Amino acid sequence: MEAFSVNFAFEPHPSPVPANERAARLVDPGFGRVFTDHMAVMHYSEGRGWHDGRISQRVPLTMDPASSVLHYAQEIFEGLKAYRLEDGGLALFRPEANARRFNASAQRMAMPELPEELFLESVEQLVLQEREWMPTVEGGSLYLRPFMIASEAFLGVKPSAEYLYMVLASSVGAYWKGGARAVSLWVSHDYTRAAPGGTGAAKCGGNYATSLVAQQEAIRRGYDQVVFLDAAERRWIEELGGMNIFFVFEDGSLRTPPLTGTILPGITRDSILQIARDQGLIVQEEPYSIDEWRADAASGRLIESFACGTAAVVTPIGRVAGPDYEFTIGSGGTGQLTAHFLERLTAIQRGRSKDSHGWLRRIG
Ligand SMILES: *Cc1c(COP(=O)(O)O)cnc(C)c1O
Repeated sequence: MEAFSVNFAFEPHPSPVPANERAARLVDPGFGRVFTDHMAVMHYSEGRGWHDGRISQRVPLTMDPASSVLHYAQEIFEGLKAYRLEDGGLALFRPEANARRFNASAQRMAMPELPEELFLESVEQLVLQEREWMPTVEGGSLYLRPFMIASEAFLGVKPSAEYLYMVLASSVGAYWKGGARAVSLWVSHDYTRAAPGGTGAAKCGGNYATSLVAQQEAIRRGYDQVVFLDAAERRWIEELGGMNIFFVFEDGSLRTPPLTGTILPGITRDSILQIARDQGLIVQEEPYSIDEWRADAASGRLIESFACGTAAVVTPIGRVAGPDYEFTIGSGGTGQLTAHFLERLTAIQRGRSKDSHGWLRRIG
């Protein structure tokens, strides 16, 4: 596919990172630190709608300090990856689902929707321009970060009349070097992430801002990640700061919290549900309480738990603790079904396995 865009004019970077320097940065890219030469940008204003799309050099933004995003946090984002396939091609994984979710988030935050074809075009064109930045390290990919901010300079509280949509590309390595390591979780009984009627299902920066203090507490107490309970009863397990959660039982069945508006509808979550159902596994989207989790881990009824999301794909959970309890899941390592889903999903994403649901969108 030629890099040719209808809605995003290409303005080549006058002095892109030289090939040898780029190669050096790609040896061990880590996550979210290595950025490519270009970014996609498009503007929105009331009356004119979306206009002036470009793929141009990645530069710092010049913005008015009164821009409403800086004061009232009207901001949403997405996260998806482009992969190098076994046959050498490039593909995105379910980008249409990201485009739809971006608009669901926009609606919740009183922001304008971005037509799905513009979302897809911006991401595809950027990946095509930046294909040289695809890491060749095992498990590497190009992480795409579409986002939208309110850019009107006005201190009155109302939805902004102007917005900026952008897409960044970042070369990333495998999230967990040397294979998935089981993480430990701190159950937050003090802080909640989302309340009924709130923004839990929207992918907005604000959700992350409010989760950081809880994550900080988890780290301070010696755990890797925080897991949140529901805000109303402080009983039901919802999700981690940025990943959904699954429970695996002795009888081979799975459970994950239902999408009732307070958890983020993860595309990885949805893909795992589909893969599990394809295999004839019993999967329940039902609430699961912290008390049940503790009791089932102790009795052996629960044998595995894992978290999932685009960045880390599938992450085993080894140990869980709260203010006056601590328990181990299974052997404390990576469970069989957890490893299986990680393998299945990566095989589809890399084109090593049949893509029976049409999840890969080839872009070159
Ligand atoms: C993005 C995100 C997820 C995971 O969604 P994926 O589409 O699987 O990447 C889970 N929880 C939160 C809070 C998120 O922001």
